[in-house]
Amino acid sequence: MGDGEIGMAGRGKGRWTKGAALALAVAMTAGCSAQTGLEVLLNKGDSTTASSSAGGRSEELLGDAAKGGQPGAAQGIASTDKARPEDANLAAFEPNGATNAPHSGGASGDAAAATPPVKLENPTDGTAHFAAKQGDKLIALTFDDGPDHRYTPDLLEVLKESDVKATFFMVGTQVKKYPDMVKQIVADGHGIGNHTYHHANLAKLNENEIIQEIKTTDALFQHAVGFVPHLVRAPYGSVSDLLKSIVSDNRRELVGWTVDTKDWDGATVTAMRSNVNKNARPGGIVLMHSFGSKHLRNTVKLLPLIIEDLRAKGYTFVTVDELLAAKAQNKKAAQAHSKKMG
Ligand SMILES: [Zn+2]
Repeated sequence: MGDGEIGMAGRGKGRWTKGAALALAVAMTAGCSAQTGLEVLLNKGDSTTASSSAGGRSEELLGDAAKGGQPGAAQGIASTDKARPEDANLAAFEPNGATNAPHSGGASGDAAAATPPVKLENPTDGTAHFAAKQGDKLIALTFDDGPDHRYTPDLLEVLKESDVKATFFMVGTQVKKYPDMVKQIVADGHGIGNHTYHHANLAKLNENEIIQEIKTTDALFQHAVGFVPHLVRAPYGSVSDLLKSIVSDNRRELVGWTVDTKDWDGATVTAMRSNVNKNARPGGIVLMHSFGSKHLRNTVKLLPLIIEDLRAKGYTFVTVDELLAAKAQNKKAAQAHSKKMG
């Protein structure tokens, strides 16, 4: 729900700390592109600011619009501040005691001091092994808020037919209801990420609450598929410094997006297709949804079209994990290069 806000390039110099964010830079550092030849330079976690100018790293595209950033300055992608109507539905999902949050409120009062802070376990999904080839134009398709039994199976079918691997950022309430779909997503080779338990606005939560949101969904993933993913996507793209530090302290990666299809908001297939084609670029991440809106039948229709379009433009579809691996690889190559060049 509600990832309808997008944090686009150009805001927040130094907003993202090392390892805390998925920062995608499209342009190479001046002077290095010819040597490394990679079209995709994915600068892991550095604090580049956006610029459309040639030369330096061009864009940092993050899903954290909620922090007062202006929308879409670099590419003119519209942003929206309105909450998704479906959010109310999701918020109504009761946690059903699966959470048993030990920090819950100050009810225990004097016992609070004796309660150790809630901590996250380390993620157990390992790191993707992915070697980008020279000239690769990588792009990742992502689906938030599911899974469900209504749209997710159809999306998986399209992905399978097209031999495309995507990444699903799932909310705990849905993981709990449809562990079978989580299993299928993983069995089909897609990446998965934690999108909190309640689709919570993490920027408004304290440390224990943030950790609990992630931890509860971790446990559900562990139960469903036997591992805990390291990718985290903040609902609404709403990010605080506290969240960033929790994520990086716990070996997680915060993942934003670069193209918001606004599928949840009833965008037409034609409009979404045009948006994706216009704004796709190497290293990009496309945001769609697999649950949470009555409009998602359009997403099912859109998916094969954009796969075809982007393939025709030479894009290779990768999971977000693979994109991060390529980013790390390119960073290494750039460092080796600059060392060599003195
Ligand atoms: Zn969401």
